[in-house]
Amino acid sequence: ETVIRYERARKEYGDGTVAVEGLDLDVHAHELLALVGPSGCGKSTTLRMANRLVELTSGRLLVEGADVADADPVALRRRMGYVIQNVGLFPHRTVEQNVATVPRLLGWSRERIRSRVVDLLELVGLAPDTYARRYPHQLSGGERQRVGVARALAVDPPVLLMDEPFGAVDPVGRRRLQAQFGRIRSELGTTVMLVTHDVDEAVRLGDRIAVFSRGGHLEQLADPVSLLAR
Ligand code: ADP
Ligand code: ADP
Repeated sequence: ETVIRYERARKEYGDGTVAVEGLDLDVHAHELLALVGPSGCGKSTTLRMANRLVELTSGRLLVEGADVADADPVALRRRMGYVIQNVGLFPHRTVEQNVATVPRLLGWSRERIRSRVVDLLELVGLAPDTYARRYPHQLSGGERQRVGVARALAVDPPVLLMDEPFGAVDPVGRRRLQAQFGRIRSELGTTVMLVTHDVDEAVRLGDRIAVFSRGGHLEQLADPVSLLAR
């Protein structure tokens, strides 16, 4: 089952930079597809096409069978959690308030939000009693990333888009986060697109790996084992 389909997708930015060229790619339900390749090869652009932070110049992109060009961006983004490097938590809101952002917008009841926040913090390994009332500056880098993951999962989106989610975390912390994220994923079955420049991370987490090369070309689709064997 295909959740996201790129058909001859192309992105040329206003200054003439061609970021993505002739991309044909299917993302399957419940898989983690890792996008790897050198800096500037179009990985982030590819990801951001899916939630319409970037509009295609030509070609088509289907999410759950519907052309994103016809989708309401707000509705689309509720179905696709988005996690970036350095997360972008709201600095003047507590962990609980950050995680509750979208449920509040949706008008969930206080009790439903509270219990969802507790579940999510437990899911990402942050004891609610300790962390719910902290502010982002009172957290380590790794803890902030975990809050970002919890926030992205708040309304149980079928798709998670992650752009270098562990990039700002030290190597030891990154290993821990990767392992923990792997467990979360197997529990939830969320479809994930993960952008990373770290081949090791792609191999560790990916079910399939899309290797991009300069000029925004998809060079190959590989399974992790065959990529390691190269
Ligand atoms: P990656 O995620 O692989 O590092 P990006 O998708 O961020 O690659 O960028 C692909 C290319 O598009 C790069 O050459 C980058 O400089 C360029 N680019 C990205 N965003 C913009 C933008 N908003 N305007 C112009 N060029 C951009
Ligand atoms: P890391 O090495 O992962 O970046 P830190 O040294 O920043 O971790 O933090 C270590 C621990 O101290 C973490 O559990 C974090 O929550 C806690 N901590 C860091 N800063 C504060 C603070 N200002 N107030 C309360 N706890 C803090």
